[in-house]
Amino acid sequence: MAIQTRKERFDTLAPDEPAYRWKQFTAALFDPAYSCWSDVAVLPKILREKIQTTIPWLCVTESIVQQSAKQDTFKALLEVEDGNKIETVLMQNPRGAWTICVSSQVGCAMRCVFCATGKMGLIRNLTSDEIIDQYRFWMAFLKKHPELPTRISNIVFMGMGEPMANYSCVRDAIQTIITHTSIGETRITVSTVGVLPRLEKLLNDPNWPHVRLAISLHSADPETRKRIVPTSYDDFLPALSDWAKRYLKKFGNRRHHLTFEYVMLRGVNDSLQHAKALVDFVSQIGHIRVNLIPYNFTDGGLQCSTSKGLEDFFAYLDTHGLTVTKRRTMGEDIAAACGQLYATKK
Ligand code: SAH
Repeated sequence: MAIQTRKERFDTLAPDEPAYRWKQFTAALFDPAYSCWSDVAVLPKILREKIQTTIPWLCVTESIVQQSAKQDTFKALLEVEDGNKIETVLMQNPRGAWTICVSSQVGCAMRCVFCATGKMGLIRNLTSDEIIDQYRFWMAFLKKHPELPTRISNIVFMGMGEPMANYSCVRDAIQTIITHTSIGETRITVSTVGVLPRLEKLLNDPNWPHVRLAISLHSADPETRKRIVPTSYDDFLPALSDWAKRYLKKFGNRRHHLTFEYVMLRGVNDSLQHAKALVDFVSQIGHIRVNLIPYNFTDGGLQCSTSKGLEDFFAYLDTHGLTVTKRRTMGEDIAAACGQLYATKK
């Protein structure tokens, strides 16, 4: 079943409306004063009634919401119109506001060995409406919970799916969110396994919003990377390095940097040799941030590095001049890693 977009439905039901009606329609979706179409007094009543019967106010519906004991992480399983389920997470950030983690696809084709979503395979791309409505779902959720901080300040594309494999819908969703909210480009991060043709495309795409990019590297040793990310190929690392240098030359500044993500897997990619390979790889590119991610257990026989292993790896990178950070772990009590809630429910 192909999902019709809001724009397609709107054009069908209101073919003769002036162009500003679509703008009013879209702006209404982001207005915190509104909770349903009948609230949107700016649209003529007849049009509103037509919209009400054909375009749901929200194209995702709550299936489950879990909260961490500390109430700083909430995770939702949402149902989309064709019955598929996706995940999205709300996490408190150090600024006292919220970061939301959104999905870009139902499932994922990349099959990374540590990732719960990878086990599902790819079911389909999400539409930009379905991406946008993960944000709007949390907007409505926070409105119902006045005891919680109200502001969503950041968005990360680190939920289910590979955003670069759904390039145009991800791009359109980001543009719409940037236009209608106070969230700016540098408060949005797109995480990608490194789909190079798409990364190449964004270098010259005038419509690509210059959000932050995080590349899931996981190893600077080609064989190890291929073991962790089976879609990797022989020339991936030199090709990534070449792309990253050109990206930094064109866009790199204090606000635009690149991050390499590195999931710490015990006995797989966390030895001193791996740390050395990472230092060599990153140093010849230029200014890259490395984010070490403690592995969040899923099935598949892998384990997170020990805390000493993680500290030693961190210290090696740090003393060799890399900018390195460690991801805070949140929501462990509700299995908040990519695809985990979906997997548990199945
Ligand atoms: N497909 C994109 C975005 C989704 S995953 C990508 O690969 O980047 C977002 C981040 O979460 C990636 O860095 C991914 O490697 C990491 N991740 C996925 N499952 C994880 C797990 N079980 N534990 C820790 N990190 C995980």
